[in-house]
Amino acid sequence: MKIQVLTDVLKANQTIALENKKIFDKNQILVLNFMSSPGAGKTLILEKTIEKLKKDFNFAVIEGDVATSNDAERLAKYDIPVVQITTESFGGACHLDANMVKKAMETLDLSGVQILFIENIGNLICPAGFDLGEDKKVIVLSTTEGEDKPSKYPVAFRNSDLLLINKIDLLPHLDIDLDLLMQNTKKVNPELFSIKLSAKTEQGFENWLDWLVREYRSKSKKKSSSGK
Ligand code: MG
Repeated sequence: MKIQVLTDVLKANQTIALENKKIFDKNQILVLNFMSSPGAGKTLILEKTIEKLKKDFNFAVIEGDVATSNDAERLAKYDIPVVQITTESFGGACHLDANMVKKAMETLDLSGVQILFIENIGNLICPAGFDLGEDKKVIVLSTTEGEDKPSKYPVAFRNSDLLLINKIDLLPHLDIDLDLLMQNTKKVNPELFSIKLSAKTEQGFENWLDWLVREYRSKSKKKSSSGK
């Protein structure tokens, strides 16, 4: 009985996610769903990305948290459209779902927006199961989290398109075995592309920016060649 209920929830979510995706595609917006544990550095990565590419692209952000609008406030200072979703009023849900994103879009001015970041709620479990209508899922893992996370939370890694290994500036102080981390990642998702960076020192950051710009161009190319 319980399994049936969960199936229905996911099915309903998938329907709304597809509706969201249609709107994103029609408006030619590249949408990335960011997942990570709390404190892995999602918000700082977004801040630096927006700061560096703001003159070339129009950004918007949907921020998910259980409570507070701290992260939304950090991003709003770049003078871009930001909507905060707090799930405390939905019983403290540990993930965003497609319907929450749909509701957020009603208050978000998407005109002219080219890249929309959705910062999911910080944990490696619940966000992995719910599509929001995004083009790509990005998983951020901090070097402080150890090399076993892909093995412990395989769904989040299996469903992602890009792995950002953040805080590489801390490597001299840590015992993490990056080769083992990559082996563990390959076991659950051999296709997962990864980039090592530090949002703080900006080491490796240009590789992530290149990936992002490539994804945006490839989406707009698809759109213009479809002739719509
Ligand atoms: Mg954050």
